[in-house]
Amino acid sequence: MAGRRWSESELLVALNIYFELEFGQFHQYQPRIIEIAKLLDRTASSLAMKLCNFASLDPAMNGKGLSGASKADREIMRSFIDDTENTIARAQIALEDLMAHHDSDVTVNQDRVRRDQFSEGAMSFSGQVPRMTESVAMRKTRIGQPFFRTAVLAGYRHRCGVCALNIPELLVASHIIPWSQVPHLRLRPDNGISLCSIHDKAFDLGFWSLDHQLRIVLSRRLVQLGGEAEALFFGKFEGKGLILPDRFVPKIEFIEWHRSNVFLDGKL
Ligand SMILES: [Zn+2]
Repeated sequence: MAGRRWSESELLVALNIYFELEFGQFHQYQPRIIEIAKLLDRTASSLAMKLCNFASLDPAMNGKGLSGASKADREIMRSFIDDTENTIARAQIALEDLMAHHDSDVTVNQDRVRRDQFSEGAMSFSGQVPRMTESVAMRKTRIGQPFFRTAVLAGYRHRCGVCALNIPELLVASHIIPWSQVPHLRLRPDNGISLCSIHDKAFDLGFWSLDHQLRIVLSRRLVQLGGEAEALFFGKFEGKGLILPDRFVPKIEFIEWHRSNVFLDGKL
């Protein structure tokens, strides 16, 4: 098995797992790595090594990880950087196809789970489980949102970027620029912040934003309320830095857009 070349679809599956896991989980005893390696008919250590290679190539990781990357690894990471949306969609489809190939029951269950995860998006999939005849375009639309949530939350190690709450069920991958405004930013993880439900809702409504150094700024309205509960949920974080993710630090131009267009004081 050692030395067998990685096909493009295998690399795409590995890339998908790379974004799903937190940095620090890229080792051969990680259950998800063991599961996927088995489906790929590869050892867990070879898949773990592949994820470390991706980390060494990922500009968002600032040179963390070992550097044993192959040319093919570089090309896949380059295509993610240059054409994020398309590469993510291909990576998701490659993973779906791998699962479908091995166990159709698993695929159906996965689709059910995925549909449940769509609650934060505008789409709903209350109909039938998607069938094999579904077009690639439809699949691309359907599968994007779980990737965005998974990648953003893993980047922040499943913590709220404001209060550090570490309960995944209460976390949202919050869009900085709402994707209804700029659809091509829909899947870009650097247009997202992992936030608990209260900080997500308040961010969406413009009660708070971030300055150019990613420090928390509160709207006048929130400051004027000034009660004990408001101080507990918001006041105590004023001026503090966003808890930075391992990867996908929010892009400053997206933050500036939020401050000018969503932040209550920015719109005055
Ligand atoms: Zn929070």
